[in-house]
Amino acid sequence: MKKIILVALLALFFTGLFNLPLHAEEGMFPLSEIHKLDLKAWGFSIGSREMYNPSGVSLIDGIINLGGCTASFVSGDGLILTNYHCAFGAIQAVTTTENDYLRDGFFAADRSAEIPAKRYTVRLIESYRDVSREILTAAKKKMTYAQRSKAIEEKINLMVVAFEKSNPGKRAEVAEMFRGKTYVLFIYNYIKDVRLVYAPPRSIGEFGGEEDNWMWPRHTGDFAFMRAYVAPDGSNAEFAPQNVPFQPKKYLKVAAEGVQNGDFAFILGYPGSTHRHKSSHFIAHEENIRMPFTVDLYRWIIQLKEKMSSGDRGVAIKLSSSLKGLWNTVTRSLGQLKGLKNLHLVEKREKEEESLQQFILANPARQKKYGSLLADLAKVYEEKGKRARRDLTLSSLLSNRISFMLGNAFKICEASYERVKEDTKRESAYMDRNFDRTQKQMTMALRDYHEPTEKALLKEMLRRAAACKGEQAIAGLRDIIAGGDEEKAIDAFLEKAFAETKLKNPEIVSDWLTKTTAQLQAMNDPFVNLAFALYPDHRELKEAEKKEKGVLDPLLAQLVDVRKEFMGRDFIPDANGTLRLTYGRIRGYVPADAVRMEPFTTLNGIVEKHYAHPDLPSYQAPAKLIELAKAKDYGRFAHPELDDVPVAMLYDMDTTGGNSGSPVLNARGELIGLNFDRVFEATINDYAWDESYSRSIGVDIRFILWSLAKFSGADRLLKEMGVQ
Ligand code: ASP
Repeated sequence: MKKIILVALLALFFTGLFNLPLHAEEGMFPLSEIHKLDLKAWGFSIGSREMYNPSGVSLIDGIINLGGCTASFVSGDGLILTNYHCAFGAIQAVTTTENDYLRDGFFAADRSAEIPAKRYTVRLIESYRDVSREILTAAKKKMTYAQRSKAIEEKINLMVVAFEKSNPGKRAEVAEMFRGKTYVLFIYNYIKDVRLVYAPPRSIGEFGGEEDNWMWPRHTGDFAFMRAYVAPDGSNAEFAPQNVPFQPKKYLKVAAEGVQNGDFAFILGYPGSTHRHKSSHFIAHEENIRMPFTVDLYRWIIQLKEKMSSGDRGVAIKLSSSLKGLWNTVTRSLGQLKGLKNLHLVEKREKEEESLQQFILANPARQKKYGSLLADLAKVYEEKGKRARRDLTLSSLLSNRISFMLGNAFKICEASYERVKEDTKRESAYMDRNFDRTQKQMTMALRDYHEPTEKALLKEMLRRAAACKGEQAIAGLRDIIAGGDEEKAIDAFLEKAFAETKLKNPEIVSDWLTKTTAQLQAMNDPFVNLAFALYPDHRELKEAEKKEKGVLDPLLAQLVDVRKEFMGRDFIPDANGTLRLTYGRIRGYVPADAVRMEPFTTLNGIVEKHYAHPDLPSYQAPAKLIELAKAKDYGRFAHPELDDVPVAMLYDMDTTGGNSGSPVLNARGELIGLNFDRVFEATINDYAWDESYSRSIGVDIRFILWSLAKFSGADRLLKEMGVQ
């Protein structure tokens, strides 16, 4: 009997249920909600003011958005800790076959050797306020749906432009919290000089590669260091040698002792997007149409890019960043598709909606207000489904994922139509506040241009686009595929286009981006001509999207309202790239019958994988790491019970893409790890979170410190972080 009790207690301890409260909560709490939470009851030893204090200094002053990822300051001199995969673009951009930083890693000998990461910017939150009322005044009753979306877009643009004009150097963004219902204006400080300080070799930073991505057990040292710089007078400036390290108001204290199984932990970060407040129709569209399309297309692009990369290191470096992104999306989508099926999520939502409809019909006032709500939502997705193949194909064809030539030509053409409009009426990429960035992104992307890859991709994509027939036909392709044999016509177009185009030259791309429609048409560049031919198709698609948003926004706002009534509780808005808090515990899980997952992996786990898979390059750890592990040279970074250095850890928090690089913090708000992924089962939590399967993955701080101390001899950084 005693034994049974002991086993039960151990099981409780294992799953982290031992301490109060019993389990984590779904929730990516916005800043406005933090003061409403009973933080002490959940295990925090800091209060809400220490987390977020608009009139003083608090933890969030140390948390930043770094090009879509999250990161944090870990020293008073602007040292930034984020994921290796978030810094990957910066590492790849400076990697050459001679200086192979991807293969060997990078550690700046001193501050002057820190390398500019040109595509990176830091966003640091300063304040926020609810602007829902002001924004919604833009929507007038007589407007069509598309007019409604445009009016709201313009109102948002006017608001941010006005703010930025009177506050130079600051950045304003309006985030839609609940669709069509609540809007919040966020003010950010914006730092433009970001430099790469330290990256481990890829064989640590991405150990396990695609085999292990979105998986547990995981042994990836997914961390890197960067630094923020400002002009000597403290103002924000582009890279300049005389710039000085930024002095943040707050930086995180490192808790070198790490955590134990069952410990409380929390995350502050910038989760990208979730879809928990949408209807069954949206999820069905995702499951049956969008995700299968993406998986099929990306798998084929991956196959081609991998073939092109093999045996040529130069090409492999060029294609590495995009390959990584493609793989990440494919594996995540496969996890989501599996989860949607296993959990029968669409059917579950449909059942909920049936009960919701009963609830609506049971009361005349409710019936009047919401009676047709669910049927109206169904209609939107029915329409979307009809256009889907063409819309998805056209957007892919015009994207940089397929071709820099056509992708850039298209932006050049679109810019010529947009730039003649009033600034606040333009598509966001062409507004004055974003134009430099758009220009930079387009020209810098050309560094990864590889003609044979691009030719092959474009050929197949044009073939797929030409195969959209009847109502789905893409009219702008008519001239290219004229003459009967489409295949031959496409080949002939591509031969001529790649030979004649001037868009391989970044200076021309930059220059043409500012030309008028007439000037561009006179250039007679084959890719620009094709972009102009496709532009009406694109406009049609854009209008349909705006109409759809105009219809959906009020419907989704109503859905939230009536569900609140029905369920008798409040909701938290879906993730939307704004700062959120989530909390939980270090905790394993049970992914399948008879399978238990422990919450920590170790250095020796790396050694095991290394020897178990001699033929898989992604499991080949650096020889020095293997030696150190074999010699048990752990320094002070071992986990006492594991008698090993913990590498990665699991916890039951609510995270998604964009939370990559978020600091994992202990009850006191000290740094114990770095979030970088979720387990396969948890990919589904973008649609439905559940404490039984939602587990996120972080690098343990002890592995980061151990790598700096033992593997890289980066004592300078340890000292800077106050770890002696
Ligand atoms: N590694 C993930 C990403 O793609 C993080 C996540 O989604 O949990 O950004």
